[in-house]
Order: sequence, then C-alpha cells, then structure tokens
Amino acid sequence: TGSVFRRRAFARTYATATSPHALVFLEHRGGVLESGSLSALTAAEQLGGEISALVVGSAEYVPGVVDKVKKLKGVTSVLHSTSIQYANPIAETLAPLFEKLLSDSSPFTHVVAATSSSAKSVLPRVSARLNVPTVSDVTSLTHDAAAGSTTFTRPIYAGNAIATVRAPADIAIKFFTVRGTAFAPAPAQDSTATDTVVEPVEVADPPTVHIKTTIAKSDRPDLGVASRVVSGGRALKNAETFQSTLYPLADVLGAAVGASRAAVDAGYADNSLQVGQTGKVVAPELYMALGISGAIQHLAGMKDSKLIVAINKDADAPIFQVADVGLIADIFDAVPELTEKLKK
Ligand code: FAD
Repeated sequence: TGSVFRRRAFARTYATATSPHALVFLEHRGGVLESGSLSALTAAEQLGGEISALVVGSAEYVPGVVDKVKKLKGVTSVLHSTSIQYANPIAETLAPLFEKLLSDSSPFTHVVAATSSSAKSVLPRVSARLNVPTVSDVTSLTHDAAAGSTTFTRPIYAGNAIATVRAPADIAIKFFTVRGTAFAPAPAQDSTATDTVVEPVEVADPPTVHIKTTIAKSDRPDLGVASRVVSGGRALKNAETFQSTLYPLADVLGAAVGASRAAVDAGYADNSLQVGQTGKVVAPELYMALGISGAIQHLAGMKDSKLIVAINKDADAPIFQVADVGLIADIFDAVPELTEKLKK
C-alpha cells in the first residue's frame, strides 16, 4: 500500500541523517505567539539538533510572526506559508501542507507542537497518513542520537501515573505534542534564523470549514500563563458569590481566576476557566483552591503548581493531601478576611 511504501522510504531517509532535525509547528493568535508553542520549541531543542519552525496564517500576521520567530532561541530556520485557508488552521486544510513538507526527501526526524486543540487535531491526522504514531502531552524527553531513538515521559490516568515510551529508530519521523507547563518558553536571542516561503497547498472544497471563533474576553491575566491562580469550586454557591468572593482576592494578588468543573457545570464560571483533566493544565507559582474538594480530575490540572494553598471547611478534603498550606475554614469568612489583610 502507499503507506507501507512511505514508511520504507522514510526509513531510508533517516539512515542517512546524522542528527535530529525538528519541524516545530508554532501557533499564533492574531500575530501573538502562543506560549505553549514557545515551550514546544524548548522541548525540541532538547533533541540536540536543528530546528525549523513552521508558521502559517493570513498575510496580515505571518510577516510579523516570522520576524519574532527568527529571533527565538534554538530556531535555525523558519518555514512560512500564507493562505486564507491557514488564517484559522484546521486539520483538513493544514495536513496537506505538513505532508508536503514531510515528503520522502524531507530532512525532518521529528514533528513537534504544543498540546493545543489545533495540534492535537493536526498532528495525529498527519502521522496516521504517514503510518507513524504521535506521542501526546510529553513532559520530558531524551534523544539517543547514536541509536536514533527518542524516549518520552507523559502523564496517564489523569496524571496518576507517568508512562515512559520510546519511539525507536525505525519510526523515521517522530511526532509529539508537548505539555506547556513542563518546559520553559523559549526566550529571544541575538542571532537570526533564515526564512523560507513554502507555497500553500490549497484544499479545494475542504470537508470542514472554519466558521467562527468565539473567545472569552477578560481583563484578567490569562489562566494558562499566569504566575498566580485563584480557583473556586462548588462551594462558591452561584455565579454572583463566585465573583464577589474570588475576584477581589484575585485582583489584590494580580491573579488569574480558575474554577473546578463542578463550578463550571453549575454556571458559576465560564468553561474557559476550568482547571483539570478536561480543562486547562496550569503550574503557576501560587495556586489557591477555594472550596474545591481535590478530585483527581482537578488535581491533574494543578498539582504541579509550585505553592498550593487550599481553604476548605472539611479537614478530610483530599485537596489537603497536595496542599503546601491548608486552612480549615469557611471560605465566606476566610477569603474576605485574607483579601482585606492583603490589601493592607
Ligand atoms: P465538590 O467535590 O463538591 O467539592 C466542594 C468542596 O467545597 C468540598 O470539599 C466541601 O468541603 C467544600 N466546601 C463546601 N462549602 C464550603 C465553605 N463554605 N467553605 C469552605 N469549603 C467548603 N473536575 C475538575 O475540576 N476539572 C476537570 O477537568 C474535571 N474533569 C473531569 C473529567 C471526567 C471524565 C470526570 C468523570 C470528572 C471530571 N471532573 C473534573 C469532576 C471531578 O471529578 C469533581 O467532580 C469536581 O472536580 C468537583 O468539583 P469541586 O471540588 O468544586 O466540588
């Protein structure tokens, strides 16, 4: 079949490659690079080889993003492709571009991206078409250049176990997505990478089209990158008390607001604020869990935070097992008091 043929062709290509060469998909929103993509770059650097960054989008944003990416640490070249079809990239329109870049004469040994909604859709689609696997949500990696294998760790069972998986040499192109909180964002550097235009692969009559993106607007720090997060749970009772109790504390700390799934499901908070297995994974300097019991699905999204503070009136609440500082108290007493003291 075509896929078996491709796999053999890739194996031949790899045998002549001496060092890794990663293709890193860098995402941006309105010209602003996503922090998860910067972490993906740091992860790719740990492979110890060349890095080509891939930037796609509309003509409005691509040139500015390319300028920024050329100055990022680790990037040796930038490939960029401009098309209205890439303005809001979806798997069906982006996959053919990847396939073109990864054709038989491709130098790439790894394809890397953040564990984002977009990359989680694009990378597995492309890797399946090339008959190779994608390793998702990687938290650490080592590349054995002599053997040509890459070993990854990734959380499984909502973070209750860490799996170590190896992509051996005969997987000629190793696809992986990176958990942003596990790698520092790549900083800017002095030197400048080269850049190359890649002709877009226009998909006639795509099976799926992007209609609109609705982004929850907030003046508060972004939950995904904030160094302090104040999260509320079911105990907050309703949307009004969620706001009136949590927001003043978040304001005085300059913190982002998060929520448990119970709080989101009950309509206290927008679902963009959900922290956990099916929400965002955060690892801020300070995470405050207020009226949150500490179910494993919630812990999966915050237990790597540097300092965890929990306030709960139940001394047996599981959140206290991961908390560095715990206060057994009613949040409706403790949180306003703490807020007033912090203001002073
Ligand atoms: P509860 O478990 O009801 O806890 C409320 C806590 O508040 C209790 O500990 C109680 O003692 C305390 N309390 C009550 N009143 C007060 C008061 N006045 N003062 C102080 N403390 C008070 N959950 C997530 O959060 N994120 C996820 O991403 C997520 N994904 C899931 C995925 C799956 C497949 C499943 C099955 C579940 C998922 N959940 C997730 C749900 C999770 O299992 C819990 O149900 C949820 O986290 C509970 O939210 P909570 O802690 O706010 O509510």
